[in-house]
Amino acid sequence: MIAVAMRRLAYWLLLASTVAAGADAVRVIESRSVPAEQLPAINSASHDLKLSLYAFTGTRWLPADIITAVAEALPLIAQCDVAIASAELRILEAQRRFHFFSTPVSRELMREFTVQKPALIFVDDTYSDPAYDAEAIGLSNAKERPELSNTIWLAYGARDLPLAIAHELVHVLSDNGEHSDAPDNLMRPGTAPSQTRLTGAQCNRLRVVAEANGLITRRAGVAGRK
Ligand SMILES: [Zn+2]
Repeated sequence: MIAVAMRRLAYWLLLASTVAAGADAVRVIESRSVPAEQLPAINSASHDLKLSLYAFTGTRWLPADIITAVAEALPLIAQCDVAIASAELRILEAQRRFHFFSTPVSRELMREFTVQKPALIFVDDTYSDPAYDAEAIGLSNAKERPELSNTIWLAYGARDLPLAIAHELVHVLSDNGEHSDAPDNLMRPGTAPSQTRLTGAQCNRLRVVAEANGLITRRAGVAGRK
């Protein structure tokens, strides 16, 4: 009797864990947008960028802090005549292991849940070595990990967060890991509040490459620039 009862219990536990695994699927539990009035207004924009942001419930990131930092980062991208059409934050419910960046586990997350790209994903921490505050994966450095293409992973506590967001976005939009030595350039290897500028050449490459890769769309009636 006991043996049967134990087997039954084991069966029910197994069934319960199977159901739980199904219920563990990644899902959106909340969405909020950077308010339209906080999106940089630029009349001369040639392109539009739709930005998708993701965070997880149960991590240290507060949605309001993400929205504030992204709103501060957007003018740095807009200086390239790229308008931000929208920036929407989705809060995900997912297994705890997905709250941290590591190439194998984050690839699995991207297979489990389709993000709109370019995507900024705010994680609790990173298991990368070296442990960068922020990691940008374009196309050219995603060949061995295609699920991670055009994603940016920001660890909680990343320094100069708005600048880090803008810096990594430039890497992804330009599909290029290059840095600049110019004193005030956003693409210096380390971020600092005084480093905000992008050169005409950097902006040009960003627009051409991001448009070719489908990450920004050209506004109707705006001629292509070489
Ligand atoms: Zn960089």
